[in-house]
Amino acid sequence: MARDTHISPVFRAEGVTRVYRTGAVDVWALRGVDLDLAEGEMVVLLGASGSGKSTLVNILGGLDLPSGGRVFFRDQELTQASDRHLTAFRRDHVGFVFQFYNLVPSLTARENVALVTEIARDPMTPEEALDRVGLAHRLDHFPSEMSGGEQQRVAIARAIAKRPDVLLCDEPTGALDSKTGIQVLQALYDVNRELGTATVLITHNAAIQRIAHRVVVLADGRITRNEVNAERALPAQVSW
Ligand code: ADP
Ligand code: MG
Repeated sequence: MARDTHISPVFRAEGVTRVYRTGAVDVWALRGVDLDLAEGEMVVLLGASGSGKSTLVNILGGLDLPSGGRVFFRDQELTQASDRHLTAFRRDHVGFVFQFYNLVPSLTARENVALVTEIARDPMTPEEALDRVGLAHRLDHFPSEMSGGEQQRVAIARAIAKRPDVLLCDEPTGALDSKTGIQVLQALYDVNRELGTATVLITHNAAIQRIAHRVVVLADGRITRNEVNAERALPAQVSW
């Protein structure tokens, strides 16, 4: 994919630290992270459990604030924003996908996505969002009638229906087997390619890094690797 390096990044993190103070001990979850996310880029974020991946992505998404350093979304400094602005930033610009799908069990796939499209500014229809993740044939199914991978794809449809600028995914395949996990990766891959949604995908499965434009590795709160993939693999080529 051609990417214009003159365009300013979607996200820029500069010297980000995050210290959790619990009782007498300070836990340094992030120890000075510098990271840019370019327009249209898919980054896979790898690292051992406890290395700071979720903390970093929660800060990028405006769910948490760093203890030090600065974070920008385009020209907007999140680390200077009020709570009200952070809420608006999340609502207007960020789609989140977590390991557990958090669908409403009593609503169909279409209705779960409609919860978001009803309050967004320029949403796609629930039908389009579900079609984009390969679920056009599942519109009227309830979560209990779907596999884990299908439920996660409903969650992705819900996240992309408001056309977010960035999609932040924290272990989206963590609870899935290889077959359904690859279908979820395919959905994320297609959304990134077709809509140009900048995507950060946290995983502890190192094989998944092959589908990324760029791979970032965290260890003990620091970035230890930040490299562009010379070649990308398709999700179907990932050996789980
Ligand atoms: P990862 O997602 O890579 O597994 P996390 O970002 O969840 O890592 O955690 C990084 C470090 O911060 C870990 O040592 C973790 O125990 C600690 N941590 C995360 N969240 C909290 C919290 N709410 N309170 C205290 N410590 C936390
Ligand atoms: Mg985590």
